[in-house]
Amino acid sequence: MSTDAPESSPSPVLHLRGPILLGAEQEITGAWVVGGRIRHERPELPAGTEIRELDGFVVPGLADLHCHLGIGDDGAGTTLATARDQALTDRDTGVLLVRDAGSIIDTSSLQHHSDLPRLIRCGRHLARTRRYLRGYAHELEPEELPAAVTAEARRSDGWVKLVGDWIDRDAGYLTPCWDGEDFAAAALAAHEAGARITTHTFDEETLPLALDAGFDCLEHATGLTDETIARTAEAAVPVVTTLVNVGEFESYAAQGETKFPAYATHMRRLREARYDRTGNARDAGVELLVGTDAGGVLGHGIIHDELDELARAGLSATEILQSAAWGPRAFLGVPGLEDGAPADLLLVSEDPRQDHRALRERSHIVLDGVVVLGR
Ligand SMILES: [Zn+2]
Repeated sequence: MSTDAPESSPSPVLHLRGPILLGAEQEITGAWVVGGRIRHERPELPAGTEIRELDGFVVPGLADLHCHLGIGDDGAGTTLATARDQALTDRDTGVLLVRDAGSIIDTSSLQHHSDLPRLIRCGRHLARTRRYLRGYAHELEPEELPAAVTAEARRSDGWVKLVGDWIDRDAGYLTPCWDGEDFAAAALAAHEAGARITTHTFDEETLPLALDAGFDCLEHATGLTDETIARTAEAAVPVVTTLVNVGEFESYAAQGETKFPAYATHMRRLREARYDRTGNARDAGVELLVGTDAGGVLGHGIIHDELDELARAGLSATEILQSAAWGPRAFLGVPGLEDGAPADLLLVSEDPRQDHRALRERSHIVLDGVVVLGR
């Protein structure tokens, strides 16, 4: 346990007066937090135990399935101190679970701080030589890929991240960085090491390759078509949306305009289709999970902007909660609000199933059973 966790000796028992939103269609009237755990039944307590009463709708801590801890603005200042500050910024917006979708530095020491969000690391990005942001990834050629996947699978928390496509500066166009055999070999190496593998993908042509290979998750997935939406739904592979980032495609297009006009046109087309495509994926039954892509280009602390983007794509408030709270926990194997689960939760005064913006106004944040933010 960390030495800089909030002092709490011992933490008072919390009585959450609810309702407790266990899932999209499941709620109970109240719950308790004792010894860092959620209890659905009132526990036996020694006489004189301090009980703190908290009112409000209780939801699991939000999850960010795609951000980068430790990567400072424009890739600069990549340090553990930066990572810790970013994690605290995210925590204070209600994000209590992070899957880091690629980190330049080893952030595993952050997992020992009980005052920080729970962190599931992907290791370092794996990218084709000169086909990603400079300095971020292990840059490789196809013959090196399987061994690199195995190595990242061992040093991460069971996830590997492959950069599937990027601008090919010689072609002047967005293209897959690997062929079907490379994707398949990468997925096989990850699965043999007991890990799951995900891919950064913008381009239409990358998605069939990743789906054929049996990838476990898709990041951004701006190139989804009717055909690949149907395949993604059929394979039950989630898509991590990152719509705030996709909104930034206009600036990538503008930067590349003169040298790479076809690339610029493509990026603008992907950006313009973002809400329709997201809505179509939802309609087809694709599981959508929230990711901010914060760190590097976008600042941390933007989860609520991403939720607003999902609303613009037509998701209901309950669907947004599914994508940001209940769904990601089930997908990552992290408990939510079930009896005995670690108490990582938010209290909000208005019903977030009616309007997701209620999540912006949190009265309390409870992490590991301790009130880390709130009156
Ligand atoms: Zn990213």
